Amino acid sequence: MGKTLYQKVWDAHKVGILPDGRTQLFIATHFMHEVTSPQAFGMLRDLGLKVIHPERTFATVDHIIPTDDQSEPLADERAEAMLREIRKNCAENGIRMFDMPSGLQGIVHMVGPELGITQPGMTIVCGDSHTATHGAFGSIAMGIGTTQVRDVLATQTLAQTPLKVRNVRVEGKLRPGVTAKDVALHIIGLLGANGGLGYAYEFGGSTIDAMSMDERLTLCNLAIEGAARCGYINPDETTFEYIKGRLFAPTGQAWDEAVARWKSFASDPDAVYDDIVTISAEDIAPTVTWGISPDQNIGIDQTVPSPDDAANADTRKATVEALQYMKLEPGSRIKGLPVQVCFIGSCTNGRISDFRTVAHYIKGRKVAPGIKALAVPGSQMTAKQCEEEGIADIFREAGFEWRLAGCSMCLAMNPDKLVGDQVCASSSNRNFKGRQGSPTGRTLLMSPVMVAAAALTGKVSDAREIFNIH
Ligand code: SF4
Repeated sequence: MGKTLYQKVWDAHKVGILPDGRTQLFIATHFMHEVTSPQAFGMLRDLGLKVIHPERTFATVDHIIPTDDQSEPLADERAEAMLREIRKNCAENGIRMFDMPSGLQGIVHMVGPELGITQPGMTIVCGDSHTATHGAFGSIAMGIGTTQVRDVLATQTLAQTPLKVRNVRVEGKLRPGVTAKDVALHIIGLLGANGGLGYAYEFGGSTIDAMSMDERLTLCNLAIEGAARCGYINPDETTFEYIKGRLFAPTGQAWDEAVARWKSFASDPDAVYDDIVTISAEDIAPTVTWGISPDQNIGIDQTVPSPDDAANADTRKATVEALQYMKLEPGSRIKGLPVQVCFIGSCTNGRISDFRTVAHYIKGRKVAPGIKALAVPGSQMTAKQCEEEGIADIFREAGFEWRLAGCSMCLAMNPDKLVGDQVCASSSNRNFKGRQGSPTGRTLLMSPVMVAAAALTGKVSDAREIFNIH
């Protein structure tokens, strides 16, 4: 009987079975940022323990970093304290940190892939929910809590129970103007925000096979929004091509050996899954969230649902709550809803291809009067590339504020925040209440090109119409 990639990676990293029945799993790579690591180091110190494999942990700063003025000390004292703390902890423990002066700083889930640290067949963890992003390379990548960060630092292992594997297959050619973000939102809408509980999602099918690595990263990034602890894609030539030549990629003979090993991790053709879901690419439209959970989404031409149409009492309650918070009427159109803020960035859609695509469409055009439009590259490497290719200038000339690398308005643990009940068209991954910094702020998740269309028109718009995409 064939095995899935999940089973193969699991078996390759199994250290043993613990007395409570869980598996002790070796962790190949540990990523770290400034928010969830200080307490872990504190616990380590209290226990008198050392970091066992400092060479397997990589740190950066992203959540709290301002994207306009990064002069130090940072204006926000708490942010400055976190910055000092991670620098100290990394220096004391011999951990490599991609700090702001390095030119390699950025959102942790962008830095790993861009530097070639993220590779197929790895077990990868980070004290951050969106660690699933790294699964795009064919690794088991999971978000962990602070005590688990401590455990990984101390032992380079983690106590885990295996997940079931759901094969989510998307077949066919995407319609023009439909992106990986739309695919991800569509899947979450179909399977539910809790539909992936207890599962790893293996994304496959001809649509996924045809995706670039940037698109695959977007898709896996959102696996956790469907409650799948991790999402992954089998490694193929697209994967290897992306990794080749990056800073941490193997070279020479080691490269050939690595590719052979990486290929061996791909799911067998006769692998057995706990569940299989097949979706037709044709059915996916440019998708926008209308509610306060990523699964509360609709195609751009659809109307906001009514509680009366809810399948059960729980969905009805959730719909009522979301409509109230979002100040939307049942049956109203999402298209045409005025927005005040537009944000392109985050670990979901802050990559070079996102900015290239949007730049192509907005060149020579202007952001609508009164709209605050932010473009925030997810990493310094991406920012540099955007400058070199003239992309940053296209954004600036269009009226976007072109910012420095960081999480920015995805989470608003930095000065980029919504004010009052502003509506934000956002390329990020969470539309929870208050997520973007104002307790009454409203987030509409969509693809970067849809955010760009909203920025140019001042309202939720169909990018296909605005940019003549056919
Ligand atoms: S961009 Fe958003 S989701 Fe990604 S790591 Fe930063 S805060 Fe988390």
